Amino acid sequence: MFTLTISQRIDEVVTLFRHSRYPIAFTGAGISTDSGIPDFRSGNSGLWQNVDPMVVASIYGFRRDPQAFYNWVRPLTKTTIEAEPNAAHYALAHLEQRQCLHAVITQNIDMLHTRAGTQQIYELHGHMREATCISCFAVYDNRPLMDQFMQDGRVPLCPACGGIMKPNVILFGEQLPMTQLQGAQNAARQCDLMVVIGSSLEVAPAGDLPVYAKRNGAKLVMINLESTHVDSMAEVVIHARAAEILPEIVRRLEK
Ligand code: NAD
Repeated sequence: MFTLTISQRIDEVVTLFRHSRYPIAFTGAGISTDSGIPDFRSGNSGLWQNVDPMVVASIYGFRRDPQAFYNWVRPLTKTTIEAEPNAAHYALAHLEQRQCLHAVITQNIDMLHTRAGTQQIYELHGHMREATCISCFAVYDNRPLMDQFMQDGRVPLCPACGGIMKPNVILFGEQLPMTQLQGAQNAARQCDLMVVIGSSLEVAPAGDLPVYAKRNGAKLVMINLESTHVDSMAEVVIHARAAEILPEIVRRLEK
């Protein structure tokens, strides 16, 4: 069977962009691995090893034992604070500036898309920008709380009431933020091209959006190191690093 080279597949993606009226991107943890933030499923990150995610990274686990949650999340917090956007984040921001991309839907909490300059973003799993007190619901800038936590390792407490602070990230068992979910669903319904980057698509309901877009007539492009269950529905599948492929798509689009 004739198999296209990666370069030929990139050309196909460029053609899809050229014919698209409403292209969007859907990203997961894989877009940020080249910024030094491990994804959750690639074997050696250690994040999921020796823990039960449904316990430690769930809202029930958080309420039962917040210190265990904070102990687990400490290495991820450190790498997220230190991380910089990579060429893939900048390529998407550039495409938006050139009006070649309408929105980014992300499952990431690392804020690297906004730091790269993306404006229209739906952060389905929340973000690390702010934290909320689980007792009085006061919202604070998360950065000073995280800086203090990185120094002393103690659960951050609410400056107002002394309650436990929770970063505004969505844990297992929590609802997705409604405005973000509705915005993402609208974009997925309107788009005629969705480029899926660095996601295993294993976490529902976010991971269902590419199939939803496809059912509404969109074309799908998959840029991921590994296969996903959605590859067979996609017009183009590229198994390679996002930080290599996305800048090349931009370069060829601008030729
Ligand atoms: P995942 O870990 O399930 O899957 C990541 C996928 O990206 C894998 O299929 C992997 O092969 C691929 N990948 C890894 N490096 C890549 C690269 N350089 N280029 C292209 N593909 C690459 O991630 P997910 O589907 O986003 O689900 C994980 C959940 O964990 C999400 O809910 C997310 O919120 C959260 N998470 C977020 C971060 C972050 O904010 N950076 C990091 C880890 C986990």
